[in-house]
Amino acid sequence: MFSSLKYCESNRVFYFRCMDKFCYECGTEIKGRVDKKFCDDSCRSAFNNKINNENNALVKKVNKILRKNRTILFALNPDGKAKTNKSHLMRAGFNFEYFTHTYTTKEGKTYYFCYEQGYLPLENDWYFLVVREEN
Ligand SMILES: [Zn+2]
Repeated sequence: MFSSLKYCESNRVFYFRCMDKFCYECGTEIKGRVDKKFCDDSCRSAFNNKINNENNALVKKVNKILRKNRTILFALNPDGKAKTNKSHLMRAGFNFEYFTHTYTTKEGKTYYFCYEQGYLPLENDWYFLVVREEN
């Protein structure tokens, strides 16, 4: 019944495309048009809600971490330039796995940003904090 893996661009998920006529949600055989994917509207919305809820939960989780990181960097760097160390950041609850983008200088130094708040790792677990100028 499932014969090919498709990627849904708008929902950013993979799903199995039913080549036979079975409902994506409940698996019931569908009678009618060849392009029908669901037996009725309730199966369609149940399927779509499941996908949306999973994606929304992930987006919410990541946004929350990024916002917290930004708040921590802002609190430690009110003047736009500051130095801090790893344990200070960790104690505040900073999550080093999440950032919005990086910037690598010609010298090969990589700054990590959470929105406009950024940091450059220095030696011995020290960090140089910067704020990106918006243009
Ligand atoms: Zn169904």
